[in-house]
Amino acid sequence: MKNSVLLWFRIDLRLSDNPALENAINLNRPIIPIYIHDDEDALQRKLGGASKWWLFHSLKTLSLELKGFGSRLLYFNGKAEKIIQQIIKEAKSDTVIWNRRYEPWAVKRDTIIKNQLNNQGINVSSFNSNLLFEPWEIKSKTGNPFKVFTPYKNALLSKDRSSKIIEDPKNILAPKLWPASLNLNDLKLLDQKNWSTKFDKMWKPGNKEAKLKLDIFIKNRISNYDTDRDMPGLEGTSKLSPHLRFGEISPREIINTINFNASKYNVKSLETFKSEIIWREFAHNLLWYFPEIHKKTIKRKFENFKWNYNNKNFDLWAKGLTGYPIVDAGMRELWSTGWMHNRVRMITASFLTKHLLLPWQLGEAWFWDTLIDADPANNASGWQWVAGCGADAAPYFRIFNPILQGQKFDPKGIYIKTFLPELKMLSPKFIHEPWKADSAILKNSDINLGETYPPPIVDHQFARKRALRKYAEIK
Ligand SMILES: Cc1cc2nc3c(=O)[nH]c(=O)nc-3n(C[C@H](O)[C@H](O)[C@H](O)COP(=O)(O)OP(=O)(O)OC[C@H]3O[C@@H](n4cnc5c(N)ncnc54)[C@H](O)[C@@H]3O)c2cc1C
Repeated sequence: MKNSVLLWFRIDLRLSDNPALENAINLNRPIIPIYIHDDEDALQRKLGGASKWWLFHSLKTLSLELKGFGSRLLYFNGKAEKIIQQIIKEAKSDTVIWNRRYEPWAVKRDTIIKNQLNNQGINVSSFNSNLLFEPWEIKSKTGNPFKVFTPYKNALLSKDRSSKIIEDPKNILAPKLWPASLNLNDLKLLDQKNWSTKFDKMWKPGNKEAKLKLDIFIKNRISNYDTDRDMPGLEGTSKLSPHLRFGEISPREIINTINFNASKYNVKSLETFKSEIIWREFAHNLLWYFPEIHKKTIKRKFENFKWNYNNKNFDLWAKGLTGYPIVDAGMRELWSTGWMHNRVRMITASFLTKHLLLPWQLGEAWFWDTLIDADPANNASGWQWVAGCGADAAPYFRIFNPILQGQKFDPKGIYIKTFLPELKMLSPKFIHEPWKADSAILKNSDINLGETYPPPIVDHQFARKRALRKYAEIK
């Protein structure tokens, strides 16, 4: 019997367009697919509750797909360095294959593992499955990392990209004897308080669902993406973010499918959508060059910013009780669905950092825990962008006006009423500023300001001037 190959799944939870899997299959040897829940790495940022829910179901789906090939997914809990050594011994493997990750702790750990295995004479190969290009492949002419999106995008587009998508596997050889494995439940990914069980009815992790979503998005929505993507009351975006986060679909597959359909749809919308996928690449590029991106500001002078720490205000923001309906609807969408529309992510993040002057790291951490698509690159770079301290960041004087943003992007209050049912009787005239409605209107709308819905926790004009003053200090 030939030696087996260890195929280590990480954030590439799919069988299609998976270079590590393709490579393992090409060796024509028994393959042992494994997943290690390595929560012991001290440097690692622990997954948030919503992400763990997604991961659980994604692994379950992948495992079922592997079963369809007569294979299995083996689960392990603990330090990857140790676990891999154990399995190699037990399964007599002489090759370990994985797809690369780009978080600093993972890079450090993987390098240690690679060196250790190489020293033992074990073959190790790793591949890029998660990005269009490796972060180090896109650099400015001076060799420095890009800090502005457009030149980054141009550099990326000027690269020759192989458009070949790897064929789906036909056969995955199983070993005669399987090493011992835990059960998926042993990884304890589902929270005991059952906060995440509500996602069961809302989301379907896995590659099949990701492909289906992409198809539906292309057929029904992509032509209007350029305009609809900013309207949170419409289903205007792809909602592929959690699938991309856990590698259930590859960005190459998305771009190829879009290019394949290019002649049928609105060119401007297609380009805008591709740009968003490139924003994702840009964020990963930033993560690679600024490994502490979720803690430290890219624009260093912002490290001295004097934030107004205030637990009460943070709680009101997180619970969606700021008194600004578009902000509150966003925060309640996040809590109840594990996802938030991009426009509203910007509005809520701006409110936290500029209206409340609370540190962006607090908001980033809340999103990290509650988003099903919580992504080390996209989340931190999104927060830094809004706070004004990131790459290509919104200028410091750009302070989203939550009333105008609501009026412009949710004019009838459809989105607001979905997540704030207590305002459902209010007319579009007052839905973005309920405090301006007189007592008769409030009464007719079944609203008791201060009881059923709060008044604003801070006056917009006051907050705007205060933020401008503070931001000007470090400009
Ligand atoms: C404060 C803040 C926090 C964010 N946190 C995350 C996060 O944790 N995870 C995450 O995936 N995205 C994050 N984003 C980016 C963006 O909001 C989401 O990717 C998007 O809302 C996901 O919805 P969608 O899949 O329908 O997007 P679409 O509009 O359909 O876009 C397609 C894909 O492009 C990528 N993308 C879109 N916009 C961005 C962007 N601005 N930056 C990077 N990639 C982008 C995503 O992978 C997305 O799935 C954040 C943005 C902000 C402002």
